[in-house]
Amino acid sequence: MKVCRSIGEIKSFVRSAKSSGNTIGLVPTMGYFHQGHLSLMRLARQECQIVVVSLFVNPTQFGPGEDLLDYPRDFERDIDMASQEGVDIIFAPEPGEMYPSGYQTYIEVGEITTPLCGRSRPGHFRGVATIVNKLLNLVEPDRAYFGQKDAQQVMVIKQMVRDLNMNVKIVNAPIVREDDGLAMSSRNVYLSTAERKAATILSRSLQGAEQAVNNGETDALTLRKQITEKIGSESLADVDYVEILSIPDLEPIQVLNGQVLIALAVRFGKTRLIDNAIVEV
Ligand code: AMP
Repeated sequence: MKVCRSIGEIKSFVRSAKSSGNTIGLVPTMGYFHQGHLSLMRLARQECQIVVVSLFVNPTQFGPGEDLLDYPRDFERDIDMASQEGVDIIFAPEPGEMYPSGYQTYIEVGEITTPLCGRSRPGHFRGVATIVNKLLNLVEPDRAYFGQKDAQQVMVIKQMVRDLNMNVKIVNAPIVREDDGLAMSSRNVYLSTAERKAATILSRSLQGAEQAVNNGETDALTLRKQITEKIGSESLADVDYVEILSIPDLEPIQVLNGQVLIALAVRFGKTRLIDNAIVEV
C-alpha cells in the first residue's frame, strides 16, 4: 500500500490508474480507524479495482471550541489496518496542502444542512461539502463510500453531487456497532468508563422507538417524547437533539409515513455522540 501526502502524488497515481482503465473507489475518513471505517474499505475493495482512502482531519468542519486539536490520531495503526484491508493508497495531506494560504472557496449546500447537526454545529456541513468536493475532484472516483452513521452527511453529499452534476456514485453503508449496540466512532475513546456504559442509551432508545413503530405508533411527537424521556433517565446523558424527519428532505413530520429518519445527538461530559435509525411505516 502506498502512502501519499501531496496533491501532485495523488493526481499522478489517479492518472496512471485511470489510463489503465481501472475503476476507483474513494473512502473519505478522518482516521483513527475502527470497524465502521473498515466496512467501507471492504465494500470499496469488493466493488472497485483501485481503493483510495483519504485520511485528513479536516479543520474547516470543526467549529470554534470543538475537538479539532484533541481529535484522536494514530497514523501507524491506521496504515496497518488499511493495508490489511487491501487498500491501494492512503492520501494523508497536511492541512496546508488542502487549504494553502489564500484559500477562499467553499461549498454551501442549502436547506438539507439546516436541521440536526447543521443546527448544532454551524458551518460544519460547509466544511464537509468543501473537503469532499476537493477529494472527489482529486481522486475522480467512480464510487465514494460513506457510513449511515452520519446520516445527514450522506444526504448532504448526495445533494451536492446531484446539484453540481458530479460524476460519481455515492454509496452508503450500514452503521457498524459494538456488541452492546453503541455505534462505533473515533470519539468513543473520549468516554470515561461510566460514560461508555451510559452511552448505550442511544442505541437502546432507538431500538425502543423502532419497537414502538412496529407496534403501530405513528405520532412523531409521542415517539420523540418517549425517546427523550428514555435518554433523560440516564443521568450522564445530556440531549442535544432528538428529531424525527422525512427522508430524503429532512423536514419535520407529525405523522410517520413511508421512510423516516430518527436522529439523536447526545453529550456525555465533553463528548458529543450521534446515532440514528431509519424506520418505515
Ligand atoms: P470519520 O472518520 O468519522 O469522518 O468517518 C469516515 C466515514 O466512516 C464516514 O463516512 C462515516 O459515516 C463512516 N463511519 C463512521 N463510523 C461508522 C460506523 N460506526 N459505521 C459505519 N460507518 C461509519
